[in-house]
Amino acid sequence: MERTIPYPSSLTKLAMREELSRGRRFSEPHHPYRTEYARDRDRIIHARAFRRLEAKTQVFTSRYSDHFRNRLTHTLEVTQIARTVSTALGLNSELAEALALVHDIGHPPFGHAGERKLNELMQSHGASFDHNLHALRIVEQFEHRYLEFTGLNLTFEVREGIIKHSRDYSPVACPDLAEYLLDLRPPLESQLIDWVDEIAYNTADLDDAREAELLDFDLLRAEVPLFAQAYSAVDRAHPAAREKLKFSEALKDVLNVLASDLIETTATRAKASGVNSVDEIRHHPHRLAGMSNGVAAENARLKQFLTANLYSNPVITEDRDRSIECLERLFHFYLSKHDSMPPDHEQSALAVPRHIVVCDYIAGMTDQFLLKQYRDHFGSAAMSTPTSA
Ligand code: MG
Repeated sequence: MERTIPYPSSLTKLAMREELSRGRRFSEPHHPYRTEYARDRDRIIHARAFRRLEAKTQVFTSRYSDHFRNRLTHTLEVTQIARTVSTALGLNSELAEALALVHDIGHPPFGHAGERKLNELMQSHGASFDHNLHALRIVEQFEHRYLEFTGLNLTFEVREGIIKHSRDYSPVACPDLAEYLLDLRPPLESQLIDWVDEIAYNTADLDDAREAELLDFDLLRAEVPLFAQAYSAVDRAHPAAREKLKFSEALKDVLNVLASDLIETTATRAKASGVNSVDEIRHHPHRLAGMSNGVAAENARLKQFLTANLYSNPVITEDRDRSIECLERLFHFYLSKHDSMPPDHEQSALAVPRHIVVCDYIAGMTDQFLLKQYRDHFGSAAMSTPTSA
């Protein structure tokens, strides 16, 4: 059977094509059969920081169990949704794929709690920590793989997407990011990433919460109509089926509703806006990718449910808080004790303020590496196993 994409308002003319690219920081000859964005994708996958995502927390730390999402499997889920959505819209799926693969590469250990703690520690030195800005430094400075340049020498659009995929940065507050056109919108491929990220983690976290037996199923159905409707439909069609499978089918339907709405709404808004080129998207007063108001509200209810019932659950927070204490203590240890970091970091600290080098060193660690450093320097006092699992 021939498969056709059911969205006639394809946005092909709004795709970010490589011939429109602002190029790489250091020019390189074209590859004979890979596009520039495909090369970016491949460079990201071969980066050390990308491999380290495997041992970084998404929601559940690896001390809890080893079959929940980690930041690498989350990244792969975001990537496949980004490919699906961008392909359905006629956009550049290779650029969307590269942007999705790199979107969390700057995350420190222990998820958002780790990011908040590093930011707090840096603020006491008049600085800050932000995972998007850290990601940019990883791909520009910290990866060493190529003879001709430091970093991955990614195209402008991928570096721009690292900065702009989830938020806007003020040109006044961030003058050092001026080259990234902070007063303009990014291409649609980049605008989609934050939405597909949210679709991926809202559905996956629900799945992991059920697997961890932390889900109040009745409460979920009462508070999240989007899920309740999907489950009821599956239940009506398969009343005798195992609940676990009905749950999975319902979750799959929720993901489909969210992704389909993102596709349809983005197509409708782009068409209604009258934009005809990537340049016009850049100059449009607001971002065009997004969900409809109704589905965005449903999605927000799902997110609120997870915030109230999973992310704040003691099984998650107690383990996480112990780990964050280890991070904080290590930060102060490296900061105050010279020759406590590896030689290349100590060398950097001769030229760069020590708190910045310490922050970069810790941000690059996997969860397990950080906890091992903690044990090596302080013993295992704070490392007791979770009590409430
Ligand atoms: Mg993410």
